[in-house]
Amino acid sequence: MRLVVLGGGESGIGTAILGKKKGYDVFISDGGTIKNNYKEVLALNKLSFEEGLHTEDLILNADVVMKSPGIPEKSDIVKKILKKGIPIISEIEFANQFNDVETIGITGSNGKTTTTMLTHHLLKQGGLNMGLAGNIGKSFAWQVAEHKVEGYVLELSSFQLDGVVKYAPHIAVITNISPDHLDRYDYKYENYIAAKFRITMNQTEDDYLVYDADDEAISNWLGENKVKAKLIPFSLSGKTKKGVYVKDDTIISNIKKVKFTMPINELSLEGKHNVKNAMAAISVAQLKNIRKKTIMESLSNFQGVEHRLEKVLKIQNVEYVNDSKATNTNSTYYALDSMTGPTVWIVGGVDKGNDYNELMPLVREKVKAIICLGVDNAKIINAFNNVVDVMVETTSMAEAVKAAQKLSEKGDTVLLSPACASFDLFESYEDRGKQFKAAVQNL
Ligand code: ADP
Repeated sequence: MRLVVLGGGESGIGTAILGKKKGYDVFISDGGTIKNNYKEVLALNKLSFEEGLHTEDLILNADVVMKSPGIPEKSDIVKKILKKGIPIISEIEFANQFNDVETIGITGSNGKTTTTMLTHHLLKQGGLNMGLAGNIGKSFAWQVAEHKVEGYVLELSSFQLDGVVKYAPHIAVITNISPDHLDRYDYKYENYIAAKFRITMNQTEDDYLVYDADDEAISNWLGENKVKAKLIPFSLSGKTKKGVYVKDDTIISNIKKVKFTMPINELSLEGKHNVKNAMAAISVAQLKNIRKKTIMESLSNFQGVEHRLEKVLKIQNVEYVNDSKATNTNSTYYALDSMTGPTVWIVGGVDKGNDYNELMPLVREKVKAIICLGVDNAKIINAFNNVVDVMVETTSMAEAVKAAQKLSEKGDTVLLSPACASFDLFESYEDRGKQFKAAVQNL
């Protein structure tokens, strides 16, 4: 069997290693460049590859193609592969064929990484030897090739779910759904929603689907479609008395016979969105029979995830918070919502079709100054120039952070929550967050 791997990134290299181990004739084709450390791994494993091009003769003779999530369905090479009738699957699907331990699959528009890491932390503290994979760290396929754990917690993007055929997590989680990546879904929101729900399509009556019951897109979809898995809703509004919900600032879970309760203020993570993420993680932990005491301790001592509402430093009583991972307005909404005092907000970058109206009430209430940090800030300035008195434009992180320091006073928070992608001025959101932290340290 010839396996062609399109894309020599983390998921591609993992797939190639697993494929080789399972006896496939493997070839990797990357239209860009493959990182040196991956090339070393390829050499070590005697895997053949090309970079900078896709040679059709070497690709169109495949029995199966694994496409990395970053490569669009509409790219030329993908169209040609499909035209020849060669099946294209995702890394998750490929690895799943050789995985014999249980997985927990977590998807959603926002909160995937936080919920995945939090869930993994709870299960680990509960004594389960779980791997952490998907969009995080070492790829699922690579870990399956090494086969060391009793289960996996997987962060799954819609792109990874697009390439799923048979994969079924024992527990699926959908944190929330809001419009994102629509360019990859024919600009149809319903296509994107359907992609997210592929996480449950192969589940059986013995499996579970944990979901945000307050989320309109999720509730509507569930109202119109049948799901085999047992449903475990969670809700901030107390809309559901099944599953997990919040009442009087306390999280209550009815998943087990004995009620689980935990005051919100004992969670280490702040913000309403993190209460939701905690409810999702509690659901999984309880389904996996982790003890109440362990769950509570783990939720109190979880360290948080870099670039997600990460507290950097307090300087002269001004708190600096790095939320560089907020690349859409929905995640920035929750960041602003969690601000307790006057906020100097650093925003901007590559606009993803943002509608700033949804932020208006929060900006009015909390933001005292806006610092634009993007190549094109016109949309942000237009949206907020009648709402916030002070607006400045900057062109580097160092400049933005200096401006923020000038504009802030005791008790304020300086929040980097860009609501935009980072590629105009930075390499990635991680690079943007790291530059923010370095600039703050420099103050
Ligand atoms: P993802 O992996 O889905 O991008 P992250 O956990 O990395 O999500 O969080 C990204 C940003 O989204 C965070 O910076 C935070 O502001 C926001 N966020 C986190 N959890 C949620 C949630 N449950 N609902 C909405 N926004 C969230």
